[in-house]
Amino acid sequence: MMRNSTTRGRRVLVVGLGISGIATALRLHRLGWEPVILERAAARRSGGYAVALFGTGVASAARLGVLEAVGNRLGPAVHTFEIDRRGRRRKGLGLPDLPGGPRLVLRGDVENALYSALPPDVEVRFSTSPVAIAQDEHGVDVTTRHAVTGATATERFDLVVGADGLRSTVRQLVFGPHADFLHPMNYMIGACVLRRPVQGHATSDGLVLAEAGRSAWVFPFVNHNPTVLFSYRVDDVAGQFRRPAIESIRAAFGPEPAGPVLSQLFDDYAAAEERLFDSVEQVRMDRWHEGRVVLLGDAAWCLTLYSGMGASTGMAGAELLGNMLERHPDDVLRALIEWEAKLRPFTASLQQTATTMRQLFTPSGELQRIVRATILRLMNSPAAPIFRRLVGPGALTEIDIVAA
Ligand SMILES: Cc1cc2nc3c(=O)[nH]c(=O)nc-3n(C[C@H](O)[C@H](O)[C@H](O)COP(=O)(O)OP(=O)(O)OC[C@H]3O[C@@H](n4cnc5c(N)ncnc54)[C@H](O)[C@@H]3O)c2cc1C
Repeated sequence: MMRNSTTRGRRVLVVGLGISGIATALRLHRLGWEPVILERAAARRSGGYAVALFGTGVASAARLGVLEAVGNRLGPAVHTFEIDRRGRRRKGLGLPDLPGGPRLVLRGDVENALYSALPPDVEVRFSTSPVAIAQDEHGVDVTTRHAVTGATATERFDLVVGADGLRSTVRQLVFGPHADFLHPMNYMIGACVLRRPVQGHATSDGLVLAEAGRSAWVFPFVNHNPTVLFSYRVDDVAGQFRRPAIESIRAAFGPEPAGPVLSQLFDDYAAAEERLFDSVEQVRMDRWHEGRVVLLGDAAWCLTLYSGMGASTGMAGAELLGNMLERHPDDVLRALIEWEAKLRPFTASLQQTATTMRQLFTPSGELQRIVRATILRLMNSPAAPIFRRLVGPGALTEIDIVAA
């Protein structure tokens, strides 16, 4: 792609080496900006968890030139089953049943594809975080600190993109405390890669154990061990972090005997080298930019896993930001305003979808469990096409928001 002469030499600081941050650096570099990426962690993280990529994410990945590298780990013979602790199973609803032909990948597949596409002159600084941000009309002064050496430095940038996730430091420094923007959904999640396929089931089987207030999902992949996702409802979110994650998860699924599948999932989670355990929160803000500092991805609009669109929207948001900066090369503020105006209705709808969809992931109580089971039966009935449109994630997941 041709570089725009007007933007050559402009420096952008991207905070966060996740999907949103890498995609932003990639897109803006192609436009002629000089990105520097800060990452708090000492090194890149690996695999992660199952991620479905829907329309907007697939389209953005293609335009960013990384779709082939992202790949698709959704096997041709995947079947999803609803199971119970006693080993009974019946047909469930899996990704292939959803409209829009989503891809199934690991978060690491997307990050690796984007990272591999980064040109060598994009500087990535690990173990480094911003500690102070001050700006004037013409630029942003960012003070950073290295976690190991403690060394601090202040540098000037033309633009700062906070793509540092749910508990964003950039947001905290520029917009205010987390409590002003985080909206708890009163759910917890745990996830990891399993050591082996679930015993007693085919390696291509997706499994869902959904009970009142808790669920466990197993996602099968081509050429990779499955991942598990635990999701459960809680009132005391803080209390969940006061003991080891596996203890909180076991307690949430107790006191009934776990049965063979859950037991294996618990054991693998306890033994996993890398595992996720977190509360589910949405980020809601009145505006995502302040002067030349802009938030992007989970930092700005965290949709939560229940929308199934966070990774897709992170890439689309990054691509769109580049498009707007290309359209207004001499007016960053206008570019940010137009970028936000286009994206906001989309993310607002997806946040709404997530609050409904969480009942499909994890019914909050016994009544919701019964409703969910009924919906699944209808979705697997001859009336399925109508119900899938009504209940499953539909139009929003199929939209290409950048092109729309
Ligand atoms: C279990 C689960 C399942 C999901 N399923 C799907 C799905 O099916 N489909 C989908 O589209 N989305 C899904 N999502 C959501 C999706 O994974 C996220 O929306 C997306 O990965 C967010 O990317 P991000 O780059 O905005 O933030 P993050 O991935 O959080 O990346 C932020 C980065 O910033 C770094 N960082 C944080 N603080 C600092 C700091 N102070 N200084 C420097 N660096 C910092 C972090 O270390 C990290 O590398 C799921 C999420 C979860 C948890």
